[in-house]
Amino acid sequence: MKTRSAESPCVAITRTGLSLIEVTAAILVLGIAAALILSTARRCVSTADTAACHSNIGDIELQAELWLQHTGSWPANDLSDIDGDLDYFPSGLPVCPVDGTSYQLDGAGSVVGHTH
Ligand SMILES: [Zn+2]
Repeated sequence: MKTRSAESPCVAITRTGLSLIEVTAAILVLGIAAALILSTARRCVSTADTAACHSNIGDIELQAELWLQHTGSWPANDLSDIDGDLDYFPSGLPVCPVDGTSYQLDGAGSVVGHTH
């Protein structure tokens, strides 16, 4: 923004720079943009965690079905017997990425809870 000096009408002195209102407006706009971006990023992370939980449920139910075919009985409801077998979960039992809880079976090979 250019302003003309009020001291002398004959000498034109120009000032370059931003006024306090312009700086405040720019900070306000940047703050609003940052809030919108953070909100969207947080929502994307939540959606990805929910999708990962559903994927884990599918994996666990599939491995429980394989356990049933190999042993003739469903794994324990807390999955303690299948957890130690590296043929089923080589990197260990997954935990829910949404709330950090472990998965439980209902006795018929279905994971209970995790309705997020
Ligand atoms: Zn979950």
